Amino acid sequence: MCCESKEGIQAHHVVRKTLYPWGAVETGNGITLCRECHRRVHEKSNGRGDLSVPLGEADDQDEWSFLFGLLLDDAKQRDIDQDEFYFLADHMLKFFVNVQGYEHLHEMVMRGEISRIRFAHEIWRGMPEVWYTNFVAEVVRLNL
Ligand SMILES: [Zn+2]
Ligand SMILES: [Zn+2]
Repeated sequence: MCCESKEGIQAHHVVRKTLYPWGAVETGNGITLCRECHRRVHEKSNGRGDLSVPLGEADDQDEWSFLFGLLLDDAKQRDIDQDEFYFLADHMLKFFVNVQGYEHLHEMVMRGEISRIRFAHEIWRGMPEVWYTNFVAEVVRLNL
C-alpha cells in the first residue's frame, strides 16, 4: 500500500494492539507495507525501526490519518466496497470519538453517508492540541 514494491510485504496495525487490543482483528486497522516502509513507520514512532519493539508513547495521529487514507485510496482505486474490505467495528469508532470528538462524523457513518475507513482517515486529520490529553484519559478510562 505504501509504494510500488512487491518485495517483503509485511502486515502492520495502524493503531497498535497494545494501545487498542480489539483493533487487532479489524480489517480496516491492518495495512500491508514493504519491509522498508514498515521499518520507517516504526522508526518514526519509536526511533528505533526495530519491528520486535512495540510502538512507544509517540503514537502519531498524522501517521494514522495517512495510513487510513492509503486504505481509503486503495478501495477507491480498485472500486471495492470500503466497509466490506476495510471494516472498523462500532466500538473502535466510538473509541476514536471519545478521544477526539467530532461526533458529527460518527453520525455520518451511522447514516451511511461516509465509510468507516473515511471516518478514521478524517477524524485523525488536523487534530487539535488537546488530543493527547484526551487520548491518555480515554486509555486510562478503559483501563488499557
Ligand atoms: Zn508494524
Ligand atoms: Zn514500501
